[in-house]
Amino acid sequence: MDMPQTVFSTCPHDCPSQCALEIERLDGQTIGRVRGAKTQRYTDGVVCAKVARYAERVHHPDRLKTPLLKQAGGGFAPIGWDDALDLVAETFTQATQALGSEAVWPYYYAGTMGKVQRDGINRLRHVMRYSGMKKTICTGTVHPGWKAGVGAFMGGSPYEMADADMVILWGTNAVATQVNVMNHVARARKERGAKLIVIDPYRNGSAEVADQHICLRPGTDGALAAAMMHVLFAEGYVNRDYMARYTDVPDQLEEHLKTRTPEWASRITGLPVEEIVAFARAYGATERAFIRVGFGFSRSRNGSANVHAVSCLPSVTGKWLVKGGGAFFSNSDIYHFEQTVVEGLDAIDPSIRVLDMSRIGAVLTGDKHDMGDGPPVTAMLIQNTNPMVVAPEHNLVRQGFARADLFVCVHEQFMTETAEAADLVLPATTFLEHDDLYSGGGHSYIQLGLQAIEPLAEARSNHAVICGLAKRLGAEHPGFTMSAQELIDTTLRDSGWPESADWDDNWLDCVPDFDTAHFVSGFPHADGKFHFAPRWEDLGPDAADMPPLPDHQEVIEEIDATHPLRMVTAPARSYLNSSFTETPTSVKREGRPKVMIHPDTAAGLGVANDDLVVLGNKRGQVKVHAHIFDGLQPDVVVVEGIWPNKAFVDGIGINALTGADSPPPNGGAAFHDTAIWLKTA
Ligand code: SF4
Repeated sequence: MDMPQTVFSTCPHDCPSQCALEIERLDGQTIGRVRGAKTQRYTDGVVCAKVARYAERVHHPDRLKTPLLKQAGGGFAPIGWDDALDLVAETFTQATQALGSEAVWPYYYAGTMGKVQRDGINRLRHVMRYSGMKKTICTGTVHPGWKAGVGAFMGGSPYEMADADMVILWGTNAVATQVNVMNHVARARKERGAKLIVIDPYRNGSAEVADQHICLRPGTDGALAAAMMHVLFAEGYVNRDYMARYTDVPDQLEEHLKTRTPEWASRITGLPVEEIVAFARAYGATERAFIRVGFGFSRSRNGSANVHAVSCLPSVTGKWLVKGGGAFFSNSDIYHFEQTVVEGLDAIDPSIRVLDMSRIGAVLTGDKHDMGDGPPVTAMLIQNTNPMVVAPEHNLVRQGFARADLFVCVHEQFMTETAEAADLVLPATTFLEHDDLYSGGGHSYIQLGLQAIEPLAEARSNHAVICGLAKRLGAEHPGFTMSAQELIDTTLRDSGWPESADWDDNWLDCVPDFDTAHFVSGFPHADGKFHFAPRWEDLGPDAADMPPLPDHQEVIEEIDATHPLRMVTAPARSYLNSSFTETPTSVKREGRPKVMIHPDTAAGLGVANDDLVVLGNKRGQVKVHAHIFDGLQPDVVVVEGIWPNKAFVDGIGINALTGADSPPPNGGAAFHDTAIWLKTA
């Protein structure tokens, strides 16, 4: 019998923390406890509760164990792997022969963040000239917003949160979504008496433990940041020497901000003037003020403008130069990965169309705006994502997947609702059952996650499926003949990093030095300056209406007489997107879907706690139970998730209400920007 042992790994889930893990391996098939690695300084021994109990997920009785083929009368029956892969290859070949290669659309996202297992699907796509996929659903708005001012995905070191006297969590509920941030914040509070400020449209778990919660309306963060800068200029908190040396148009900015008064911002944000002024002064007076920029406030039609406006705050004050100061969104550019072998980037044909993943409903229902002159999508391979639950404008997505002429193969760990909608379902390994390579957006490490236990039953890795299909389709590329481990080491070598055998640990620290992280020699734009006036036209095709300087961009789905509430679909603590909605402990902790409603609003609508209510707009209707809650503005409601559709009373989930219209300048998904009506059921 195997002796229990501890092996290192990496959390593969879609989370900036990308924790270094210590896995208790009980035998060749079984794990016990999962702990945060104590010797990796960002993880520092801490992981979230949902991953600490990962044994519940990897050994779940509902894991998929064999390929399954949909039967004519409904339901699935087992099929052998060879027959299953033959079927996919034959269907893709027929689709290509009938309509051209663009009729096939491989679709994936971040259910695993591993470079080999997540991104290998692109190799097959590019070599076979299948339709491209624009990756917008998570980063579509935040990426151009951050890049607009700073120029690259890096910034004040995440470890320096512990050296700050004020930490501002702007649009991120770190308690629920990246618990390690709270660990570093706790050190700053304990050792330096630092203040924690949370800026968010509702009193979430992080706001509960903060010194101050600034509870603004969703989609108005740009107005708050602009008004703060108005106060900073007016009251002498700005650093004019810093701006002259490091920024592009400080004089234009000062002129522009004269009309962005706290009174102006108060009308937009719903915050009292005094609160805006006091917060601006506190920020201005605190040299070591660190802004942790989250994804939340980017999930809005004006999300890119919001993120840019917030990133301007340390630039007007010069806080970038201070240890424990500045702002941080992601370190993804410090890794400079070269993924040609994994992704087949050398096989890209630029004439092949690229379809927006956030608009999957429109694509599958043949929207001309999305399809152009290309053929309909008639065949799909889906890995690592559950668009039937997570994609916006769900009713259109559902309509698309119901098409009789669409063949869908889903490679998954569980029978998700997307898998249920598929023609063929393939069982997938978890991160503990295959090899992969990771890098953490929220820290500075490249990390390994090597196979710790045998794959469950007939489960196969993404890499195995992609290579199996390539062989049948005649796709040729060096990556198809390599093992996952060979792809890892080739990618490391091509990226200029040592191969994993030469590492001292299960990780490699790539942390930039102080001057690089703090932009002491200038920002990573051609002119070396931070841009108050972004070149939006370089960041996406819909740049015409982007604000020329940091501002509130008036493109959100505003309330009106028919839709008097704005809805935010925030992440629940025990789920990660739609992952963990299958584990009993997570479901028990979350209870059931509920809409948080302000007591005054509920009273006006005759709604009591636990009442069943209907939320609706032009896109659909959703039935959900009411939870009376005073931690938000009266015209805001929050539904945490993402719950499966079937968890809702009518089997229709919250994304029936969210829109899939493409936010400027480069697309995305405005999950927290939805006007609705609400009434008792
Ligand atoms: S905090 Fe994020 S990265 Fe860390 S274990 Fe949990 S889900 Fe994984």
